[in-house]
Amino acid sequence: MTDITLVADVDGVPVRTGHLIGGVWVGSPTTFESRSPLGWDDMLLANIARGDAGTAAASVGAAVEGFATWGRYSRAERAEVLHRLADLIEANNEQIAHVECLDMGFLQESMKLRLVARGAVNFRLYADLIVEHDDRRWDAKSMDNHVIRMPAGPAAVITPWNAPFMLSTWKLAPALAAGNTVIHKPAEWSPLTAALLAELAVEAGIPAGAYNLVQGIGHEVGAALVADNRLRRITFTGSVPTARLIGKSAAENIVPFTAELGGKNPLIVFADSDIAAAAKKAAWQYDDSGQVCLSGTRLLVEESIRDEFLKTFHAEADALVIGDSRDSATDIAPMAHPDHRENVDGFVQRARANGDTIVRGGNKMADSLHYELTLIEPMSNNSEVVQNEIFGPVLTFQTFADEAEAIELANSTQYGLSAIVYTGSRERAERLGEELRAGLVWVNTFLVRDLTAPFGGCGISGIGREGGEHALDFHADLKTVMILDNTTT
Ligand code: NAD
Repeated sequence: MTDITLVADVDGVPVRTGHLIGGVWVGSPTTFESRSPLGWDDMLLANIARGDAGTAAASVGAAVEGFATWGRYSRAERAEVLHRLADLIEANNEQIAHVECLDMGFLQESMKLRLVARGAVNFRLYADLIVEHDDRRWDAKSMDNHVIRMPAGPAAVITPWNAPFMLSTWKLAPALAAGNTVIHKPAEWSPLTAALLAELAVEAGIPAGAYNLVQGIGHEVGAALVADNRLRRITFTGSVPTARLIGKSAAENIVPFTAELGGKNPLIVFADSDIAAAAKKAAWQYDDSGQVCLSGTRLLVEESIRDEFLKTFHAEADALVIGDSRDSATDIAPMAHPDHRENVDGFVQRARANGDTIVRGGNKMADSLHYELTLIEPMSNNSEVVQNEIFGPVLTFQTFADEAEAIELANSTQYGLSAIVYTGSRERAERLGEELRAGLVWVNTFLVRDLTAPFGGCGISGIGREGGEHALDFHADLKTVMILDNTTT
């Protein structure tokens, strides 16, 4: 029986407001608010259960029990459930996109076409990979050697508020495909589509306890969850400070831990490139108000094309439509949360005070949670706005004299998530591919990639790699079995 009080009506879409533990939706004595960035004060979307240490412990207990079932499903049986879940995501695309647009602010049309659609693709990818995967078998030292991929056990999956639906599917799919049970802890700023996803997982036939969801505040239920020594994996996407805290718990319990963290990614434009295409792509880094970990937020442009680049860049940025995310004509979404907009504004006002030049924008907008599309020319490469992730519509602009200086500037932060290069030279493209310190390097393109490729960052941008087999390896305990070749039957 469903407890009706655990369902909110989010603009016509029913959304569960509780936790899913052991196949049952349960509440908490206290709640937190989910408000819409599309109209903060007037748009309370739901009151969501605020989990605590007891909630975390119950969810891990359920995941331990669920592992006895899900961990013993064959790969084909797991794949079947995951494909059914992908079907259900596709069938519910519109509702998921609408709820996420209201909850987090991302553009509704883009959610439908890109992020929700990608959610289904993520489950299909891992359903197919786990079935196709061929465990290694070979003869050596007079023995038959073979590798078995054992599911590891319960996995905590902790996700951030930006692109919440897509990122959740990207992390949950390999964990479940590998045979691990999951406890998903979504971010408190955008908790709603995680509830839709959990409900679809139940509808897809996932057994009780295999898929658990806990809602609540990071330092409350999140901290209690990652400290539980019954977990066998922790996979996290979010900020560097939180990764440090979670890493301590993982170390305490000797639990493998992956972290996909922030970036301060260079977008490098050489004079030999298609400068108009590069400037257009640079302006496009304002997409989703810059709340994208992979965004190329440091524009590094060859000195000789400075004026030409800036002229096109400004024209492209001026043409972007700032508006309501439900409107298909809108290009730029609002910031997800007023507190985050304050953080972003803090960076810009400190830059102004420190003598960096605000080339465009630099202010909060009056009638919405948007922030002006901002470009800053820093006093030096050491400026805070160059060295730290801002995660808003704020780009920096620097020039370089030659390729060596471009590489030096590109590699000069503690981060190393992605890099974007525009050049007309294949040889330069290959050289930059070698020299840039980043987990992903795009040349003359951006964002498109094969999902079986490794995904992750260098430096403080992360630990470990997701994507294809890499995530499956993380979620498995690999076992080598060696049988002396003297058996007769
Ligand atoms: P965050 O670290 O504040 O929160 C992420 C998640 O961790 C949330 O669910 C939160 O509730 C939880 N959490 C917070 N404190 C916790 C604790 N002590 N123990 C356990 N869980 C805790 O990050 P955010 O602000 O939600 O996300 C933005 C950051 O995520 C940016 O830095 C962005 O670059 C990064 N990000 C990285 C990628 C990537 O793939 N590399 C993708 C998206 C976002």
